[in-house]
Amino acid sequence: MPTNFPARCGTLLRAGTLVTQDDDRRVLSDTAVAIDDGVITAVAPWSETPRIQADETIDLSGDIVLPGLVNTHTHAAMTVFRGLEDDLPLMEWLTGHIWPAEARLTPEIVSLGTQLACAEMLAGGTTTFCDLYVFEEAVARAVDTVGMRAVLGEGVFDTPNASYKTIDQAFGKVAALGEFCAGRELLSQCLVAHSVYATGAQTLKRLDGLACDNGLTLTLHAAESAVETAMCLERFGRRPVEILEDLDLLRPGLLIAHGVDVTEAEIALLAQRGAAVSHNPRSNMKLASGMAPVAAMRAAGVTVGLGTDGAASNNCLNMFAEMGAAALMAKVRGLDPTALPAQAVLDMATRDGAAALGLQGVGSIAPGMKADMIALRGDAPNLQPPHSIVSHLAYSATGGEVRMTMAGGRVLYRDGRFSTIDWPGLVKEMDSVRKWARGA
Ligand SMILES: [Zn+2]
Repeated sequence: MPTNFPARCGTLLRAGTLVTQDDDRRVLSDTAVAIDDGVITAVAPWSETPRIQADETIDLSGDIVLPGLVNTHTHAAMTVFRGLEDDLPLMEWLTGHIWPAEARLTPEIVSLGTQLACAEMLAGGTTTFCDLYVFEEAVARAVDTVGMRAVLGEGVFDTPNASYKTIDQAFGKVAALGEFCAGRELLSQCLVAHSVYATGAQTLKRLDGLACDNGLTLTLHAAESAVETAMCLERFGRRPVEILEDLDLLRPGLLIAHGVDVTEAEIALLAQRGAAVSHNPRSNMKLASGMAPVAAMRAAGVTVGLGTDGAASNNCLNMFAEMGAAALMAKVRGLDPTALPAQAVLDMATRDGAAALGLQGVGSIAPGMKADMIALRGDAPNLQPPHSIVSHLAYSATGGEVRMTMAGGRVLYRDGRFSTIDWPGLVKEMDSVRKWARGA
């Protein structure tokens, strides 16, 4: 037995194929992973660990195990609007359908939508997500019950909404969310502005100050489309990234969602300042926002994670779909089949996403890392023959192959069953959610 492998552990997992996503991107066969108190304590060939004692053994010897996927940008509760209205011009969709419904949001609806999102993410192999919405404390309570890892922020706008009427009330909600997340191992807080056009300069600076003082990520939508750029130029005479630079907001710890309409100079600036980007290719395609220059951003040294955005504009929270879309979009954008290869999108969905969120110990499988892992059925027809597992994960997997999802060492989903979600009970609520969303 290797000296670094413990004589006993809480959970011993046996992986048929282990996609470590470690610094050497090793893919190992028949491997033992020891877990204690939610942390991976050792990784070694199974043949070298015959005498280890474990409280629990998880046999995934026929399966593919990889780090849990990291969704760097979503609005989980927007699952309640999935399919409500599609295929409309952006402003008609927002002002005619989404905003009127959002004005009637309640903490109860937000909680139901979040539970639905968590179920979907767990069944599709996501263990960590970054959420931006209103009534975020209701999101935090739901996620805490489910047991996923999450970085959560109350979206701060300068206009009243269902969650708060004044900016001071908004900051009161931010403080309450911080108190709820404090001391909860899997939850952390981020500071959230909507965008440079819906959150004013003063409020942006206030959020940034809080983020800096507390070492938290600040995130917002920016440079989502040429339409947004034109609006910013008309109103402020500056492009979105220029506004962030003017306000001194571009720094490590800033995560901008989308980054579609950025110039070469802005990409260089993002890299120089250490700001990260969440790339949401399916949302960007559905809303016809454009194609983010992801290959150029990565080449410049910008940390780029992947995100699904909300279920009203995607319409699924499926990170496997997002990986495939990112790889294909980058190739079409550059008319270059070598752009954004399979390993790059897997990195974006795991370790780079964790880095974009400022999460330590997440995104790879190695001793000392958090035990956030998923397993895909090794006998899935679309993952055969096993030429390149990484290629299959990027181009062929659908998420439907996921048979186990573990966050912080706890199995939250296994073979179609959720351990912390009353799924039949939640499904029964969906008819009332449908009626609520329709205004009935
Ligand atoms: Zn968004």
